Amino acid sequence: MKRTTIHQLLAIVALLLPTTLRAAPSSRPNIVFIFSDDHAYQAISAYGYGLNKTPNIDSLASQGMRFNRCLTTYSLCGPARACVLTGKYSHLNGFYNNYNSRFDGSQVTMPKLLQAAGYQTAIIGKWHLESDPTGFDFWEILPGQGQYYNPPMFLNGRRVVKSGYVTDIITDDTLDWLKNKRDPNKPFLLMCQHKAPHREWEPALKNLAMYDGVKFKEPDTLFDDYSGRGKAEHEQDMMIAKTMNNRDLKLVPPPTLNAEQRKPWDAYYNPRNAAFESQHLSGKDLVRWKYQRYMHDYMATIASVDESVGRIVEYLKQSGLDQNTIVVYSSDQGFYLGEHGWFDKRWIFKQSLRTPLIVRWPGHTPAGSVNNDMVSNLDFAETFLDAAGVPIPKEMQGRSMVPVLEGHTPADWRKEFYYHYYEHPAVHNVAKHYGIVTDRYKLVHFYEPEFNYWELFDLQRDPEEMTSVYDRPEYAQVQKDLHERLDRLRKELKVPAQDAPQSIIKPAAPAGAARAINALHAWVLDYRFDHDEGDKVIDASGHGNDGHAQDAPVALGRNGAHARRFDGKGFIQVPHTRSMNAGVGAMSVDATFKADQGNGVILALGGESNGFCLSLEDGKPVFTLVAGKKRTRLAASQSVTGQWATVHASFDAKNISIRVNDDAPSTATVVQPLKRNPNEAMQIGADLGTTVLESPAPHFTGLIESIRLYSGQAPKEQ
Ligand code: CA
Repeated sequence: MKRTTIHQLLAIVALLLPTTLRAAPSSRPNIVFIFSDDHAYQAISAYGYGLNKTPNIDSLASQGMRFNRCLTTYSLCGPARACVLTGKYSHLNGFYNNYNSRFDGSQVTMPKLLQAAGYQTAIIGKWHLESDPTGFDFWEILPGQGQYYNPPMFLNGRRVVKSGYVTDIITDDTLDWLKNKRDPNKPFLLMCQHKAPHREWEPALKNLAMYDGVKFKEPDTLFDDYSGRGKAEHEQDMMIAKTMNNRDLKLVPPPTLNAEQRKPWDAYYNPRNAAFESQHLSGKDLVRWKYQRYMHDYMATIASVDESVGRIVEYLKQSGLDQNTIVVYSSDQGFYLGEHGWFDKRWIFKQSLRTPLIVRWPGHTPAGSVNNDMVSNLDFAETFLDAAGVPIPKEMQGRSMVPVLEGHTPADWRKEFYYHYYEHPAVHNVAKHYGIVTDRYKLVHFYEPEFNYWELFDLQRDPEEMTSVYDRPEYAQVQKDLHERLDRLRKELKVPAQDAPQSIIKPAAPAGAARAINALHAWVLDYRFDHDEGDKVIDASGHGNDGHAQDAPVALGRNGAHARRFDGKGFIQVPHTRSMNAGVGAMSVDATFKADQGNGVILALGGESNGFCLSLEDGKPVFTLVAGKKRTRLAASQSVTGQWATVHASFDAKNISIRVNDDAPSTATVVQPLKRNPNEAMQIGADLGTTVLESPAPHFTGLIESIRLYSGQAPKEQ
C-alpha cells in the first residue's frame, strides 16, 4: 500500500473516533501485551500440566480469562509477530520466514492505528522482524534473536549495550517506561516482548540451581518413531536425541557471559557435566538425560518470565493503572517439551499450533474464566483496536475478541482455522505445509513436490496425532468435507494457489546438493550487519571499540541488507567459536561480499593446526581447510574483485567444495579431515593468531553483507 493511502487511512481513523472518546482519552483502556518467545502452554501451571510453577501468570489467569485454544497462524517467531501487528496471514503481510523476509513497516499495523487514535505506543524486547519498528513512540529492541546475557539493544535506532540478564533488562526497561516515559494524559499500548524461553534456554544466574535434581515427567511420546505419519515427520531435524547441540545442553558455556558471570555458571554446570561425561550414556538413557537437562534449563528461564509478569502487574496495581488496563500474556507460538521426541515448534500439530493466552481486563473478563473457543494471534490486532474504539480495517483477517473476553462469544465465531508454514528448506527441516483445523479433525497437506501428501487426524480418537487416517474408507465423507472446507477457507483468506516468490528460501548449499541444507544440523552463525549481535570492530592497533556507533551501515548489499565496510585494517572478532563445533567434521560457509582488493581474508576460524579460511587471492575466492596441520586448498576459477558475489564453501570428511554465485562448484578431495573443534576464535576480515593460511594474507578491503556458517553432517549429493 502506498504511503499516502496510509496517511489518509490514519486521518480517517482519527476522524471516525467518537468525539466522546477523543475528548475523554482516559476512558479508553491501556493495553499491556506481555509476549514471550516459545513459551509452551505445558509450562504454565495454570494449564495444569504439573511440570513447573508460574504463580504470577497463574494469578493473572485467576483474575481473568484463560484460553485453551489460542492457535497461531504460523508457528514461528517472525511470522507470528508480523501477524500480531497486522492481523493478517503471511501471504498478505509479506513476512514468510526468518531467513529472507523483512517486515514492510510501511503497511497498516495495529500500533500505527492506535497511535493515530491518540495512544502512546511502546515496544521493548524481542522484535525479530529485521526492519526497524514503525508506529511506536518508543522502541527498544533486541537485534535478531537477541542474547541472554549482556544483550546489545537498539533504542529508537541507537545501539546500547546492557549488562545483566535479558529478561530482567526487558522488565526493568518496561517498568522504567511505565514510570518515567509514559504520558499520563494518553492511553497506551505497551508491548513487553521477552526473548525467553527461546533456544538456547539460558537461565538467569540466580536460577541455575532452581531445578537441580528435579526429575521431570517424560511425555508418553518421547520415543515416537513416526510410524503412522509421512516423510516430513520422518525427515525433520528437531529431535532431542539427534538435533540438540552442546550449547543447547550447556556442555559448553554461552560465549556472551563475562568473566564474572562465568564463575557461577562454571561452578554449577562443570561438576554436573563432568558427572554426565563419566557415565558414558548412550541410546535411550542419553535421550532421557538430554530431556531432563533441557527441561531443567527451559523451566528455569520461564521462572524469570513469570517473575517479570509479577513485577509488571504489581506496578500496575500500585499505580492504580490496573483498573483500566488490559493485561495480555501470550507467546508467539507453542513449543515441544519432548512430545514426539521434539523440541522447537513449526508444525500444525498440537503443541506448536496452540499458544498460551491469558487476558485480564477488569470489568470485562470474568475472573477465573476458561474459554475453549478457537481464537488466534490473528485476532489480537482487531481486539486491541476494538477495545480502544478504533475501527478495524476490513483487510484484517481476524476478528475482535472483545465479546469473547466478556463471556459472550458470538454464535458465528470461527469453527475452523487455517494454518500455513513456509520455512523450508531451513533449520530443523520441517517441510512446508498448510491445513485446516476443526473441533474434531485436522487435515494437512505437505505440498512441496518431493513430499506432496495429505494427512488426516481424528483428534477425538487420536489426540496426540500419531496416526493419519487419510484415505481410510471410514473417513471418506469426513475427508471430502474437510477438503471442501479447506478450499473455501483458502479462497476466503486469499491464499494464492502458488507460493509467492518472496516466500521461497534459496538453499544456501553447494550446487548439485539442492537439499543439502536438510542434512545440516543447525545454523551456527548468521552474521549480518544492520542489526549485529554484539560484535566488536577491532582496529589495527588491537584496541577494541564498539563498532556500531562509528561504523553505521554504509551500503546496501546484493540481497538488499546493509553491508559493513572493511578498510583493510579493521576486522570483527567473533566470540561464538566454541558453539560452532567444526569438530563434527563438516561445515558450510556462505559469504556475500564485494571486494575492492584482489587479496584479503573474508573469514578465518582456527589456526595453523585446525581450522578453515575463506580468502581471496588475485581476485579468486579460495577455501582452505587445515586439519592436524595438513592443508587442503581449493580456488574458484573466476575473479570476483569489484563485484557483488556470494561464495558457498563447504567441506566434509572427504570433499571440499567452493562455488561462486550460481556457477558450477569446484570440488577436491580433502587431504586430511577435520576431527577437532579449532581452539582459536574466528575473525571476519582477517586471519589472526596462528594462521590458517600458509602465509599471512591482508585484511579484507570492501563490503561484506552477510556471513553464514552451518555445522553438521556433509551435504548429501543427489
Ligand atoms: Ca518463537
